[in-house]
This record gives sequence, structure tokens and C-alpha cells, in this order.
Amino acid sequence: MTATRLALDLAVTIRHDGHGGVADDLADTAGLAAWLRERAALLDCAADPVIPDQALHTAVRELRAAVRSLFARAVRPGPPSSADAHRLLPESEAIGRLNAAAALVPTAPQLSWDPGAPPELRLHPAGSPPAADRIVAALARAAIAFLDGPDRALLRACPAPRCVRYFVKDHARQEWCTPSCGNRARVARHHERRREGRDGAP
Ligand SMILES: [Zn+2]
Repeated sequence: MTATRLALDLAVTIRHDGHGGVADDLADTAGLAAWLRERAALLDCAADPVIPDQALHTAVRELRAAVRSLFARAVRPGPPSSADAHRLLPESEAIGRLNAAAALVPTAPQLSWDPGAPPELRLHPAGSPPAADRIVAALARAAIAFLDGPDRALLRACPAPRCVRYFVKDHARQEWCTPSCGNRARVARHHERRREGRDGAP
């Protein structure tokens, strides 16, 4: 489920900052470098680490905007994350952007079959594309695979106060992205009910 993990990881680089605002882990190239370092194995660039420049930074952020816009569509009829609900891309533009990013690097299917493991299909970049293109294309392919796969139906925008995360439900009754969001939401509901009780009292 590398695709789900990468697609979600990219989306949740926009997150609640803990003070009522929104933080962006990919605000600058240094942030992107740290984010890519942590995912070098998933992105198949561990052997060939890339130092992000402005072009790669822009490409990843534009891809993220497309992914989050399509996540907003995937969670309907539920509401989208409030972080960017006011600036979602038109769906055709988001899809076009995702497909163009995936097409940066053609891939060839390759079989790997380690002893004691089941056979596995992997998509390997054809030729020797620039590392930056490989990263953007790998992120786009992950998002496409996620949107095409069974986890899409489990995608939600966390409804807890101030939270802006998308998450994939682990179990049917999961309502919030994390237990701490669940606690915050319950406290908020409790205060809401108390206030209503007071306001409604004679
Ligand atoms: Zn949450």
C-alpha cells in the first residue's frame, strides 16, 4: 500500500499548526528536502538523493494542489478539508495535471520474485530520466493508483475542530484522523451542548 501512503503523505503536508492556523511542511525547498529524505526508499531515490531546486518545489506543490482537489471530490458527499476548500482546482485541470506529471517518466513493468515471497510487479522508470522528474512522476503515479484503488472509498476529511487532514479509515466506525482529534471533537460537542442547555433554560 505504498501508493496510499505516498498519496496521503503528500496531501497531509498541509496540516493544522496547533494554534488554529494551517502549516505547510513543503513551504520551502528545505522543507521539501526533509520530506523527500524521509521517503527516499518509497520514492526509489535512496541511491540517488536529489537536492530540490525551485522548479521541483513548484512541481511538487502544484501536484499536491491537484491531489487535494481530487481528494475533495473523492470524499463527497462529505465536506472537503477546510484548508483549501476555497481554492480547489477545476476537476479537469487537476486530472490533467496529475496525468501530465505521471507521464514525465515512462515506466516498464518488471517482475521481481524473491525467495519465499510472492511474485511482484514493479514499475521501473524507462531510460535515465532526471531525478526530479522521477520524483514528481512517482508521486503522481501513487496518487493515481490510490484514486483507482479500494482505499479511495475510505478517504475522509477529518471533521474535528481546526483539523485539515485527509485520512483513510482503518475501521468502519472511525470518525477522526487521530484519537487526539476525537477527544477535541468530543470536548467541543460537550461545550456546545452545555451552551445550548444554558441558552435554552428559562
Ligand atoms: Zn483530525
